[in-house]
Amino acid sequence: MPELPEVETIRRDLTPRIVGRTIIEAWVSPNAPKLVQAVPAGRQGELADAFCRRLAGRRIEELDRRGKYLLIRLDGGVTWIVHLRMTGGLIHSRGGCEGLPDGRFLRARFGLDDGAALCYVDLRKLGTMWLTDDESAVVGKLGPEPLGEAFGPRELHRLLEKRRAPVKAVLLDQGAIAGVGNIYADEALFEAGIRPSKPARALSRRAAERLHWAVRKVLMEALEDRGSSFRDYVDAEGEQGMHQLRVKVFRRTGEPCYACGTAIKRVKVGGRSTHYCPKCQR
Ligand SMILES: [Zn+2]
Repeated sequence: MPELPEVETIRRDLTPRIVGRTIIEAWVSPNAPKLVQAVPAGRQGELADAFCRRLAGRRIEELDRRGKYLLIRLDGGVTWIVHLRMTGGLIHSRGGCEGLPDGRFLRARFGLDDGAALCYVDLRKLGTMWLTDDESAVVGKLGPEPLGEAFGPRELHRLLEKRRAPVKAVLLDQGAIAGVGNIYADEALFEAGIRPSKPARALSRRAAERLHWAVRKVLMEALEDRGSSFRDYVDAEGEQGMHQLRVKVFRRTGEPCYACGTAIKRVKVGGRSTHYCPKCQR
């Protein structure tokens, strides 16, 4: 469930701890056969072994993020890309990966030259990693970064007016906007006073402006809180985020709206659980 604020928190935490370090050994559990992905997709087989061999000996130069993807740039023009999906976590540990609370879900381990390790844990094993010299093969089709300068209210309106899908489905479409998932889509639509099921192209220019403001507001507040931990998300030190304590609609079904007291409703929009206030959101 990590979305933009959670992946960005991990990126910021890991940067001072691992930039400049060299990966001395890499191990992927035979228990996680889908963790390492080929670019372009297809050829499997010896993939995990080749991935580990190619990672070992490389120096970590910088950490970047696109949407929900963490990009770990290594020497030699190679990027290690990580997508945590639902339950993945990348934890920096000075004491190796054995004593971690979620140690039984350890799917990969990366030893560093200062004796620390990056421990990849993943209960449901949906997370994926790539090693590539062509980042665009993995992240090239993502939409703009919602906190970036290229994403203005006009850009959002232009994007919405072409789509007849529910506005929430467009917010979740990573090719439209990168990094927004179920939590922050629901929260942003509440802040903007917009019904999640409303067709995107029915939004006025004013409504698109409000939504643009709301998306940025909820993402920035969640970043300040170091992300939301509803179930599995932990930061790079294995600690929970705090933003789940400040959400206004997400998973508050039946509880009173903070603005008007009406019970928060839960419906499915585009196949996803969606929470909203029937009075405040039109
Ligand atoms: Zn309300």
